[in-house]
Amino acid sequence: MSEWIRSRIRIIPDYPKPGILFQDVTTLLKDATGFRKAVDELVQPFAGAGITRVAGIEARGFILGGAVAHQLSVGFVPVRKAGKLPGPTIAERYELEYGADALEIHSDAVQPGDQVLVVDDVLATGGTAGAAIALLRRKQAHVVGGAFLIDLVHLGGNERLTGLGVPVHALASSTNADDPVF
Ligand code: AMP
Repeated sequence: MSEWIRSRIRIIPDYPKPGILFQDVTTLLKDATGFRKAVDELVQPFAGAGITRVAGIEARGFILGGAVAHQLSVGFVPVRKAGKLPGPTIAERYELEYGADALEIHSDAVQPGDQVLVVDDVLATGGTAGAAIALLRRKQAHVVGGAFLIDLVHLGGNERLTGLGVPVHALASSTNADDPVF
């Protein structure tokens, strides 16, 4: 459990809708020391692991994933909401609490055999990261792991990704739904 990261993340209750405890990472990102330390710790287990691409999920995964890719000296792949990427894309639908959404990557974003690290700020149900993993696998990339600032373990994303064979690395994890911080 990482107290330093918890202390830098602002919790906004009932955003964007009642009952959600929104994990606002902008308070961490604006803190030079916190941002650097977070990126260092996201990278740490994957340094020397042969990562060839980092895939960041829109939108906060772009900020973190870009910095992680820079630190690993590898390329960055944006995983975007439907209709945002300009070139030929592949899409994967995923379930939301109400309804469904879709994520896309460019068809040529990764090559078969690429060793990809998926990065986002928060892992909740794992629907978003699961769709990103499915997209990358459809292009025969190997998803080495998922790196997140916060893992809301009680929402099931950790179990979901682990079940897909993708190890989860998170800097802070909730222990249960009553956790006062999460
Ligand atoms: P999920 O697909 O349920 O794992 O949700 C993960 C995605 O939704 C990530 O891109 C997060 O940025 C965002 N998200 C989900 N729950 C929260 C939360 N409580 N606070 C901040 N972001 C969240």
